Amino acid sequence: MPPARKIGLFGGTFDPVHSGHITVAKEAADQYGLDQVLLVPAAAPPHKHGAAAAPYEDRLRMVELACQGDPRLVASRLEENRIPSYTLDTVRAVKGSLGQDDELYFIIGADAFNEITTWHRWEDLLREVQFIVATRPGHDYEEPPGARVHRLDTLALPVSSSEIRARLAAGESPPELPPAVREYILAKGLYRPSPAE
Ligand code: ATP
Repeated sequence: MPPARKIGLFGGTFDPVHSGHITVAKEAADQYGLDQVLLVPAAAPPHKHGAAAAPYEDRLRMVELACQGDPRLVASRLEENRIPSYTLDTVRAVKGSLGQDDELYFIIGADAFNEITTWHRWEDLLREVQFIVATRPGHDYEEPPGARVHRLDTLALPVSSSEIRARLAAGESPPELPPAVREYILAKGLYRPSPAE
């Protein structure tokens, strides 16, 4: 029988992926001995307002580029064409592909975890999977009863995709973008300000 594996599932819009995401994924793998972390861009995130700024294929490609260099990190198409993409369905799909002794952890930032009780069928989700919650500057979280939570105290990483989009639109080059992702954004002309009407 193959040895039991520990898998992390890290969902997000990744619009674009940044060094905060990658640090969280790597530190979760280091601290909890994860063999693999799947980074899963959402096709259409039901708990975020409005559509993503960049198309799915670009967000996925940027995650692939950011994962290069650490074989534990893998970009996943699990939520491709799944609109809306509910985390509960994704977790169940991954669990269905795992062996009996494998363990699954859902990796999430403190801001998102603090809103978990607004997610689709959140009580089922809490029963289904354990969480690695990454602290995030300026964000506290409460643990709903019954949640299985492992805290990940990452180095303070005050970075967000929305700030990065704003700085790109202002013509800046945010240092929190992995170099290959920055090149991709420039080559594809993503996150430019919309032309004045
Ligand atoms: P936005 O600014 O558009 O809300 P974001 O930076 O939060 O984007 P998402 O793709 O929405 O990025 O995040 C995916 C997951 O990563 C979420 O669980 C979020 O909480 C977590 N995350 C993002 N940035 C950080 C960070 N700097 N530290 C810890 N967790 C983070």
